Amino acid sequence: MRSEAADVVIVGTRCAGTAAAIQFARAGKHVIGVDSGRFPSDTLSTHLLWPTAVAELDALGALPRVLALGAPRLRTALAGGAGYVVRTEFAPVRGTDHPLADHPLVDHALCVRRSGLDAALRDTALDAGADLREGLRVTELIHERDRVVGVRCRDRSGAVTQVRANLVVGADGRHSTVARLVGAHDPYRESASGRACYFAYWHDVHPSWRGIAAQWRTGDLLGTAFPCDGGLVLCLIQPPVGRAERGPHRTEPLYRQFIAEIPELAERLRGCTPAGRVRTAFDLASYFRRSSGPGWALPGDAGHFKDPITAQGIRDALRYGRLLAHAAAPVLDDEHALDGALHMWERRRELDCLPIYQWTNRLARGEAMTPLEVELYRAADTDPALAARVLEVMTRVRPPERMLPLRLSATLAARAVRHHAPIPAAQNLVRELRDTATEHHQRVRARRDGLPPLPGAHPATGHA
Ligand SMILES: Cc1cc2nc3c(=O)[nH]c(=O)nc-3n(C[C@H](O)[C@H](O)[C@H](O)COP(=O)(O)OP(=O)(O)OC[C@H]3O[C@@H](n4cnc5c(N)ncnc54)[C@H](O)[C@@H]3O)c2cc1C
Repeated sequence: MRSEAADVVIVGTRCAGTAAAIQFARAGKHVIGVDSGRFPSDTLSTHLLWPTAVAELDALGALPRVLALGAPRLRTALAGGAGYVVRTEFAPVRGTDHPLADHPLVDHALCVRRSGLDAALRDTALDAGADLREGLRVTELIHERDRVVGVRCRDRSGAVTQVRANLVVGADGRHSTVARLVGAHDPYRESASGRACYFAYWHDVHPSWRGIAAQWRTGDLLGTAFPCDGGLVLCLIQPPVGRAERGPHRTEPLYRQFIAEIPELAERLRGCTPAGRVRTAFDLASYFRRSSGPGWALPGDAGHFKDPITAQGIRDALRYGRLLAHAAAPVLDDEHALDGALHMWERRRELDCLPIYQWTNRLARGEAMTPLEVELYRAADTDPALAARVLEVMTRVRPPERMLPLRLSATLAARAVRHHAPIPAAQNLVRELRDTATEHHQRVRARRDGLPPLPGAHPATGHA
């Protein structure tokens, strides 16, 4: 068995893994990153990047490479549905804690296919000095004195390499091997999605739409059209799980049927021709897993995932990959300080991501728009300031609970009862109030109680 040593070993080198690798390498640390895949390669993911995600690419120094891939800058968000079309220009943002304070603010979203996006991130990490390797699957962790002190990985011939390090970063996605091996795979907070995903690329023939990220909702369907690199437009449909059917022979006809049921989306795609097959994702669940312990941490989907409906995953993987390295790099040689820094990092991510996780779970219910939602978007149609507030939730500038002033909430609730079937609308309002209270308590508990103990932890110390 080959044996090596590094300051940090990173398992998985797409979004979270490369972000951590870039920041550790910039801090002068010896980083080895391993991935079971080969690059450039695609992965099962759509890829809308809100302006705050673009700001994260900028913070990592990867933005020039990503922009060179040729995706159009999306300066307008369009939301269409029953009796409304809300068009909003993105307000300029800079990611919070942006290390490049003199960089221009970001005033656009991007949609960049993952093969190019992930390759741009890897090239940036290689430039920063990280040692990234492909075709190596981590199968075991090395433990010493209750700490994780390295990994064992195998190449395709079965040859085993052992890498010892002060920190093992599991950036290995939703089916994380590292999470399983440290006993953190079972989430402490989880919500099954009510929606499935069907998506495909189309050759775009509409120049006037190339700067617009559009979403339409009709009945219980939600469909998007995001112009991306290669002259393509990515069209994602998220039907309720009850309408999704598995099996390759059903995928294509169902996708076409869903598009036909959203007339504005069908019109958007008129004249566009398909580029490749339709891909699907079923059985999605949003979750938080315990994401740090003695000598290990789980950034990205390995530790926390949200349904794609709000398109937040890449931003959070980049951001908390970078911030993990920022927190851990100065204390890698001090076990006690390192474990404390990892704990604080995890807690910060939990408090930042919990509100949008809750909001995402509401949207992922897989139901038709509620009367309250319809009234909100109708009001936003004629009120640009309100439209901007709604968009600020998606761009993480404003937490969802601060989207609506109380008085406006009451006005919209009254309109919901007046303009829709009153009894179902009232029942719906009761549910919204109940969910709002539950979510509030969940946030209060998260702030007050901190993270739950590690799986298998000693009740008195909280340590495994
Ligand atoms: C259908 C769908 C649509 C989505 N759409 C969007 C969107 O529009 N916008 C958005 O922001 N987010 C979206 N997301 C979320 C986004 O894909 C993820 O949040 C993001 O990919 C997380 O990055 P990551 O680096 O944590 O993990 P991943 O991108 O999953 O990368 C994990 C890497 O780990 C490697 N790996 C796994 N196991 C091992 C092992 N044992 N040894 C070595 N390597 C290993 C894999 O090969 C892989 O390269 C979507 C997700 C899905 C499922």
